[in-house]
Amino acid sequence: MRGVLAAALLLALSLPGCGVSPREPGSDDFAAARARMVREQLEARGIRDRRVLEAMGRVPRHELVPESLRARAYDDGPLPIGEGQTISQPLVVATMSQALALQGDERVLEVGTGSGYQAAVLAELAAEVYTIELEPALAARAARDLERLGYGAKLHTRLGDGYAGWPEAAPFDAIVVTAAPDHVPQPLVEQLVAGGRLVIPVGGRGGQQLLLLTRTESGVVREELLPVMFVPLRRDPDE
Ligand code: SAH
Repeated sequence: MRGVLAAALLLALSLPGCGVSPREPGSDDFAAARARMVREQLEARGIRDRRVLEAMGRVPRHELVPESLRARAYDDGPLPIGEGQTISQPLVVATMSQALALQGDERVLEVGTGSGYQAAVLAELAAEVYTIELEPALAARAARDLERLGYGAKLHTRLGDGYAGWPEAAPFDAIVVTAAPDHVPQPLVEQLVAGGRLVIPVGGRGGQQLLLLTRTESGVVREELLPVMFVPLRRDPDE
């Protein structure tokens, strides 16, 4: 066994550029910044779900922000991604992901693909991810980037108004909404399985509450998680 391992290592080292795959966690130029982000922004502030911490330690956030902002990809805040939209602060992505309590075998819907970062984190945490974006330029770019990063197999992207969910792919074990409506869209509640979780910021431009809704056999249980500030959920007038 040890001989085989040693031989494989020798082979990898002797082929130029083959020693480390660029997709391996921790192997890119931003690995140190990413590890620091996980430690100082997430673990230190109470994110406890190991799988969420590991997922965010793997996803190359710098590959999903505009090239000119790469150096700031692991900063403790949101960043502009074009079309007046933003990629969320890492802590917010972690909080929402943790609230979904994913084990690995779930089907998950995200409304508001944006940069594709939250979708990539979800793809690390669940079996199948569906993500929908209203803005054509962002939807196209995220689909291309997520494919390039190797998430294509379990991640499905779509251009459209996520208020209506994704009825053809429903029901979902978990749904996360990353733009804020002023009320909870009923179609999303209806597209949850019994026991399913919906994490959604609800409120106006002045600020919103991040809600965790759990669908049960007898109704919906509602929990307020924390005050947040998301871009508004817009509606497609044709849908
Ligand atoms: N989850 C994203 C951040 C999203 S910002 C990320 O990880 O980068 C919110 C996104 O929701 C924006 O891209 C915005 O265009 C999109 N959006 C707004 N209203 C929407 C709607 N009704 N349906 C789908 N996407 C919507």
